Amino acid sequence: MMAQYLEIKEAHADALLFYRMGDFYEMFFQDAVNAAEALDIALTKRGKHNGDDIPMCGVPHHAAEGYFLTLIRKGFRVAVCEQMESPAEAKKRGSKSVVRREVVRLVTPGTLTEDALLEARRHNFLAAYAEVRDEAALAWADISTGSFHVMPLASVRLSPELARLAPSELIVADNVEPKIFELVSDLGIPLTPVGRSSFDSTASEKRICGLFNVGALDAFGSFKRAEVSAMGALIDYLEITQKGKLPLLQTPLKEAEDRVVQIDAATRRNLELTRSLSGGRAGSLLSVIDRTVTPGGARLLEQRLSSPSRSLDTIHARLDAVSFAIDQTVMTNDLRDALRRTPDLDRALSRLSLDRGGPRDLASIRNSLEQAAAISGLCKTLDMPPLLGTALQNLVGFEDLSALLAASLVAEPPLLARDGGFIATGYDPELDEARLLRDEGRSVIAGFQQKYAKLTGITSLKIKHNNVLGYFIETTATHAEKMLSAPFSETFIHRQTTANQVRFTTVELSEIETKILNAGNLALSIEKRLYSVLSDAILFQAAHLNAAARGLAELDLTASLADLARGDNWCLPRVDDSRAFDISGGRHPVVENALRQQSGDSFVANDCVLNADQGAAIWLLTGPNMAGKSTFLRQNALIALLAQMGSYVPAESAHIGTISQLFSRVGASDDLARGRSTFMVEMVETAAILNQADDRALVILDEIGRGTATYDGLSIAWATLEHLHASNKSRALFATHYHELTALAGKLKGVENATVAVKEWEGEVIFLHEVRKGAADRSYGVQVAQLAGLPATVVERARVVLEQLEQNEREGGKQKALIDDLPLFSIAPPAPTPIAKASPAVELLDTIQPDDLSPRDALDLIYKLKEAS
Ligand code: ADP
Repeated sequence: MMAQYLEIKEAHADALLFYRMGDFYEMFFQDAVNAAEALDIALTKRGKHNGDDIPMCGVPHHAAEGYFLTLIRKGFRVAVCEQMESPAEAKKRGSKSVVRREVVRLVTPGTLTEDALLEARRHNFLAAYAEVRDEAALAWADISTGSFHVMPLASVRLSPELARLAPSELIVADNVEPKIFELVSDLGIPLTPVGRSSFDSTASEKRICGLFNVGALDAFGSFKRAEVSAMGALIDYLEITQKGKLPLLQTPLKEAEDRVVQIDAATRRNLELTRSLSGGRAGSLLSVIDRTVTPGGARLLEQRLSSPSRSLDTIHARLDAVSFAIDQTVMTNDLRDALRRTPDLDRALSRLSLDRGGPRDLASIRNSLEQAAAISGLCKTLDMPPLLGTALQNLVGFEDLSALLAASLVAEPPLLARDGGFIATGYDPELDEARLLRDEGRSVIAGFQQKYAKLTGITSLKIKHNNVLGYFIETTATHAEKMLSAPFSETFIHRQTTANQVRFTTVELSEIETKILNAGNLALSIEKRLYSVLSDAILFQAAHLNAAARGLAELDLTASLADLARGDNWCLPRVDDSRAFDISGGRHPVVENALRQQSGDSFVANDCVLNADQGAAIWLLTGPNMAGKSTFLRQNALIALLAQMGSYVPAESAHIGTISQLFSRVGASDDLARGRSTFMVEMVETAAILNQADDRALVILDEIGRGTATYDGLSIAWATLEHLHASNKSRALFATHYHELTALAGKLKGVENATVAVKEWEGEVIFLHEVRKGAADRSYGVQVAQLAGLPATVVERARVVLEQLEQNEREGGKQKALIDDLPLFSIAPPAPTPIAKASPAVELLDTIQPDDLSPRDALDLIYKLKEAS
């Protein structure tokens, strides 16, 4: 056995080998050590290898799924090795034969299909990146739903595209440049290098044609070599990990790079589109707008939000659908109720195709089709806009399949086909008979007993069972004579005579007996056969079912966006190919939501008008910290993205000329893991923007230059603004601390000043969160510091320094002289104010040593203090 183990292990050196032994998966050697630690299970020993103990650990096979997940999350891959025959079969081949075993599957992050291992509301993409000479391409597939895409891309676009797709695993050739490895690990995506041969474009072409059963790839469009190579490598990897059982991939959809708004990884992170800065879904834009009621709808929403469209036709078609749904209560009520009852059709289908499904997947398909039919019924009379019309058309045409599943399956089938019990009674007469015999064998026999007693007139006749004879008819010796003679001797066959009894059988009884004994097995095998029949009937319509799943997801998404728009008072944006950016009464959905939940405060809506008819349009935003600058910047970017993904937007009105790229530089945090300082990160990101932004880009810059000395920072901010204005000609929002920059508004056409208003009241600032035209007069930094709880002495000192600095600047003085003039800061406690000094309570407190006080003394003291105050 060890020899077999080692041979299999050698072929799967990079994975943990789960070696099936009876009811357990066992791991040995270093695998056992690693797995025991990762899974926190006991490490034991078994036998010796080259004189050393063999470390071993194991997990029960029925609980393996949970362990897979832990291991995958910890970065392992798992090779699942099963017994391919029973020990009895192995013995037949020879007394010393080891049970034949084979690896049937490699479990990797990108190839999961089990519900328990997947997040229902997220895609699970496996991606492959290929370079062929100076071309590059990315292919990706979700084998749990069958979607399959490919796009050519310049290698600099790899990072943004990966950030958009967030694949669970990326395959690359093992000879790609190290910088690709670095980039992928920065994004935190598990990387799987494979041999170059997987990426060979000629072999890839054959593989793709083979998979889709076509003679030439042209059937799906024209592809560049790099695209073919990426798709081929992905299929090859699936063949390797699924051991030849290929999932039901849909034919590849080619995506053009210019189809969607380009958003780089940093911008996605900053804007917290699908993940918040802390990494979770909570607090992200997605979490606030997600009102979908099916997993498929949720996955589509995430996809749309990650990839807002640039095509006006697409955007308008989606917006038309949402507008329609807002006006139709059927769409937002009954339809959503039906959708709530609809299971995850895509994933059930994919498990069936990989032979990893079970009766519940059949039932999921049945229930989905029932709901699909109900939904078509609900919407029949509505005059749907095209997007929804197509979605609905995809839901019909399943009458036969639906009837088949409805007739054949029990209401709530068990998880595994292995134990049977999922085919409904009345569907298959042979199965019904088998089950009757199995379950009611005794009563069938009891029926025989009555029949024979009546036939022979021997009322004491019994039918009994033992292991030697099986079922037999027994009479006392007195009656035996009758049975042994004609006409009964023809029916009753003598089997055995004991001291007092004589035992018989009949042809009928032995037939029944065999049937009863086999009934259980027979019932199981009939159910297994029917399972395959049903599964095949489903897979036969796989493409149509996939389309139905897409239709359901589209309906769910549209209805959920309608619900959101109506409930939260969002408006229909006007999107066209102008260069307008005119938002009135815009809100930040996430901040608004947080305010509503935490303090009940309402969000102050703000306008933003970037007049970009000619040249650039830039708003230069000044205002104190905490006034709401970042919120304003982000909300405008989010409104644009929401509009282009085809959603209503949180504003009173919005007119947006399509945006091709979105860039943001918001806030700064040290990226210590990559050894870059805040300032470096800031400059790298700013450089990317200035090099790439075009005249259809929307750029959001928050406090550029903050990470360095004042004049350096100001100069960089200044030059950046000028470049955006003169070269990039983008629409931009630019928040800054440097009030000096506001002078540029007068000089550069298209640059305007705006400020977030605050009010000063009794020395404190009150944030109004209102964005107005004009520049801030002061930054109120000292007041904000005071609000933040800086010690009073420091706040006071800062006021003094600030006053001197400002006075000095007004009078054109030198910094050096100022420093000399300012009286030195003393850390001695501030002189107590006269009022404090005068208070007898305070004087009394001065005399106290708290450490010396007993609780009783302390209480007395409180009374004294109260009196003195
Ligand atoms: P800044 O970037 O100017 O330092 P932020 O945008 O981070 O300020 O806003 C600080 C806080 O002010 C936010 O967390 C939010 O609670 C509140 N806030 C910002 N904008 C608004 C608004 N328009 N209406 C109500 N509260 C707001």
